[in-house]
Amino acid sequence: MMVFINNRFLPIEEAHISPFDRGFLFADGVYESIRTYNKKLFRYPDHLDRLKRSLNETRIEFKEIESIENIIYELMIKNDIEDEALAYLQISRGSAIPRTHSFPKKKISPSTFISVQNLKENTKEQTDGVKVILQEDVRWLRCDIKSTSLLPVVLASQKATEENAAEAILVRDGMITEGTHTNFFAIKNETIYTAPKSRFILEGITRKVVLELCERFKIDCREEFIVKDDLKSFDEFFITSTTKEITPVTSIDYWTINNGEPGKITKSLQAVFKKLAEDY
Ligand code: PMP
Repeated sequence: MMVFINNRFLPIEEAHISPFDRGFLFADGVYESIRTYNKKLFRYPDHLDRLKRSLNETRIEFKEIESIENIIYELMIKNDIEDEALAYLQISRGSAIPRTHSFPKKKISPSTFISVQNLKENTKEQTDGVKVILQEDVRWLRCDIKSTSLLPVVLASQKATEENAAEAILVRDGMITEGTHTNFFAIKNETIYTAPKSRFILEGITRKVVLELCERFKIDCREEFIVKDDLKSFDEFFITSTTKEITPVTSIDYWTINNGEPGKITKSLQAVFKKLAEDY
């Protein structure tokens, strides 16, 4: 596997970072995951904007941002990606000795890591739907930044895995925010609801695409918090992300929704999303 690390393309075995890297010591960094359709990076400008925003909010000065797209395409060639690719990129504030919480006095360069791999399609999950569990949202109050500080969601996601669930959906003060790595949607009386853009959620690119599709196909969609105690009054649920695309939710904790059948509106949204992706 060839990766890009600090301005060089290297075999993974030769790719190293300093143990004093602030990404390693403090999770002081930001990241993005981007996939391709027809070998073209999907909604790259949106990912780039989100990355710029994350860098800006965390005050990481990264000048080579415009070169990332080419590096990813170059890595796809170097790694003989056969079909579609999933790219991961991470930028940390850089490495400095001694370890201090505040930014180093001396200017340091950010550390960059980019990898690509063959994307594993999850067709079964998207056809059959998935189980999710509810977990308390114990994350910080800047979930709008795509930061590498992911311990709370690592733990919630592990709990989901241990309970044979595909995702943990997070609840803060009785409101559903989002999944550990997905956005959450619920449908009632043909109206779609999802948490509003705020410090409590990451503005997912797939979420954005779904909102655009709702607008285009005149589906009523409201950016409002879904109350946990009202969940049973909804007809359908789905989660979205770059890799899960639109995945129906067929059970939440011990509640099986609709006899375990993915919802009708969810399925039609999946179909239009699929067409959009195929034509991308
Ligand atoms: N929320 C969180 C917390 C995430 O980590 C992700 C994955 N990036 C998403 C939502 C979905 O975002 P996207 O559709 O851009 O993959």
